[in-house]
Amino acid sequence: MPEPAAPDTDQPRRRPPGLGELAFERSPLAQAVTDGGLRRLRCNPAWTALFGGQSAEPAHWPDEAVTRLAAAPPDGSTVDVRLAPGATGPDGPALVVTARAVRRGRGHVLLLSARRDEAAIDAAAERAAALGQLLASIVHELNNQLSTILAQTQLLRRLIRNQSHGGRLDRVVEAARQSARIVTNLLDLARRRPIRRTPVAMADVTGRAVELVRGRLERAGVELATDLPADLPLVAGDTTGLGQIVVNLVTNACDALAEVPQPRRLSVALGFDADARMLELRVADNGPGIPPAIMKRIFQPFFTTKPEGMGTGLGLSLCVTQVKELGGSITVSNRPEGGAEFLVRLPVSAGDQAAAAAAAMPRPAGGAAILVIDDDQALARYIQSLLRREGHAADLAGDGVDALRRIDRRRYDLLISDIHMAGMDGATLFQRLERDDPESAARILFMTGDIANPELEQFFLLAGRPVIAKPFDDERFLSVVAQLLGRTGSRSPPGSAE
Ligand code: ADP
Repeated sequence: MPEPAAPDTDQPRRRPPGLGELAFERSPLAQAVTDGGLRRLRCNPAWTALFGGQSAEPAHWPDEAVTRLAAAPPDGSTVDVRLAPGATGPDGPALVVTARAVRRGRGHVLLLSARRDEAAIDAAAERAAALGQLLASIVHELNNQLSTILAQTQLLRRLIRNQSHGGRLDRVVEAARQSARIVTNLLDLARRRPIRRTPVAMADVTGRAVELVRGRLERAGVELATDLPADLPLVAGDTTGLGQIVVNLVTNACDALAEVPQPRRLSVALGFDADARMLELRVADNGPGIPPAIMKRIFQPFFTTKPEGMGTGLGLSLCVTQVKELGGSITVSNRPEGGAEFLVRLPVSAGDQAAAAAAAMPRPAGGAAILVIDDDQALARYIQSLLRREGHAADLAGDGVDALRRIDRRRYDLLISDIHMAGMDGATLFQRLERDDPESAARILFMTGDIANPELEQFFLLAGRPVIAKPFDDERFLSVVAQLLGRTGSRSPPGSAE
């Protein structure tokens, strides 16, 4: 440890600072001087900064660390003590503190220096990376299982025409899809992948999310009131993640309401704080509310009051991570009339707003922006001319990579993609979009001449997007396009265009 000039701890400020004291104050090394028992701390600004609001007073550190530092021998040799993350306070970093004893009069003082424990930080990063990998393989396995559930359920759905039984299967399919999204979100969190932002109309996202849990609310006897004005500004975010937030809040409210007798009321409302330029989502219930003692803890990962097997304690912490990453906030309060109210605030940025407004324009029957993705140039040009004749603007892309580049630059109302292509094929393009840009994935119409291929059939079933068989007649093709432009965004039953 480089020896700092040790200011006299007994008479710290009586005389003007000497050179030694100035060096101590200005040193980039975090240094402190204490008496032999690690009390009467004098420290420099680098020391205070290193501890970042956590306890910089050795007297508050774990006893074992204090005892070992205090035992620094008077022969000038040093003692190193590692402080684990959290030892100096809830957010305390991993540190190495070095102590050296220096004689002063009849006693001695201790010179301390501290630095971040890079080895421990690296080890923590390695552990996090290993956990991320483990999570990735679990997610992969889960996705495989979910794919089977989805494929088999959708096959059954085709066989069962009975409306009420079929409706149950639809709910299984939607739940499996939602589960697939959740595991993917978890993986994103583990990898800290940045959220891909697209302009999002929260009224649509909230409406769709509420639909997903409507059955559950009905079964729990919950009266739902929604207020989702369609003309609110758009936010820049990720549809799946934002939908997940709504689902989490509504599900939590539903669980809480199960604890109280009828009437059980839930309201989901959107508003806009024009001064702060924040979109506001309020989810309020008349349930038991939240005991003040746990109000802060409910946002912590793995905190749950639900019975074993019911709660993971991850819902709200995932919401917090998402919302914070979008520059927003999430708060909760107990309503005076009883029950809890969650408020999510999401920023609306001017640039995103303009882009979003353009993207959210009602999709006209004519004049839509369409991207045709096919490596068969002659066919692609023919389709382009058909679409132009209908008044649409049609761009061409030669394969999936080319398509992704174009989709990144502008928003299309409809993507019409071939499956087999020389470069990135249609299935890979779809998977990329599902992962990174689900809104665009929900706007794909596939076309293929390979309609009887069982592997492809499986893919179409899982994708849940319409497919048109090549060769097609012009009228039929244009009517499918018109139909899709009228309802893009909603998932159509698989293979429904044919
Ligand atoms: P989980 O739902 O798995 O318990 P969450 O993070 O979503 O995990 O929620 C954490 C806790 O917050 C819940 O266990 C519950 O105690 C509390 N909570 C959340 N929403 C409500 C609500 N609307 N009313 C009362 N308590 C709630």
